[in-house]
Amino acid sequence: MSAAALHVRGLTAGYGPVTALRGVSLDVPDGAVVAVLGGNGAGKSTLLRALSRTLAFHGGAVTDGTVTFADRPLHTLPPDRIVAAGLCHVPEGRQVFARMTVEDNLRAGALAARKGTKAGAFKRVHELFPVLAERARQRAGLLSGGEQQMLAVARALMASPRLLLLDEPSLGLAPLMAARIADTIREINAQGTSVLLVEQNAALALRLASQAYVLEVGEVTIEGPAPELAASDEVRRRYLGVVDEEAADDAAPAEVPHLARWEHA
Ligand code: ATP
Repeated sequence: MSAAALHVRGLTAGYGPVTALRGVSLDVPDGAVVAVLGGNGAGKSTLLRALSRTLAFHGGAVTDGTVTFADRPLHTLPPDRIVAAGLCHVPEGRQVFARMTVEDNLRAGALAARKGTKAGAFKRVHELFPVLAERARQRAGLLSGGEQQMLAVARALMASPRLLLLDEPSLGLAPLMAARIADTIREINAQGTSVLLVEQNAALALRLASQAYVLEVGEVTIEGPAPELAASDEVRRRYLGVVDEEAADDAAPAEVPHLARWEHA
């Protein structure tokens, strides 16, 4: 099997007249955690939808560019073949099946699993998330927000992906729960699954990732090793909430309107 690296080149996508991604190029090396940062509406979710080929379900379409994974072109495949190719997308908002039990949610995730991987996948997710084993027969809708996020990630892991696409896994979670999710992402990666992590929580994402990209209004404006981004004045000021007098003057809201809500949240 060839190395499971993801290469995205010149990806352009949108929703009717709205262009949400403009010529985006990025790489996720085999075994890496790569972060994509950006404010509201920057195009992060659109990027993951384009990669998992689910953009059409949201009324969108990819209009240009190529995506290859493990040397195979993905941009021409239907969504079910994307899972079979080794990519699993955990969308924003913990979309678990609320009326189904925790166990049935996991079984649903295993539907796309390759033959012979199901038993191993159950064991793996129960080790990663013991609470899901304890709550196996409970309805998913009764779990806490953090537990639902764990279930959403666990359900994706049931297909034994080689690359996990995670959309804002820390969104709306208390800091302690967000830290637990971060620990789990680290563990999942240590077990050999690559991760493309989309986050508004830049501090958390830059701690986890080796490489990071900043998306602004659909374009990659900054990219590099995560420690370099974490040390960059611009990233610190605009995405890590580090404010000094000089920086505050530079970061006039009029220049970065799409970040204003986030910075002042
Ligand atoms: P957020 O963190 O707020 O979710 P994001 O970086 O994930 O932001 P996207 O959701 O990808 O950004 O949105 C990119 C652009 O596409 C925005 O201008 C947004 O309004 C638009 N958009 C997103 N989803 C749709 C949709 N289903 N139909 C039309 N426009 C959309």
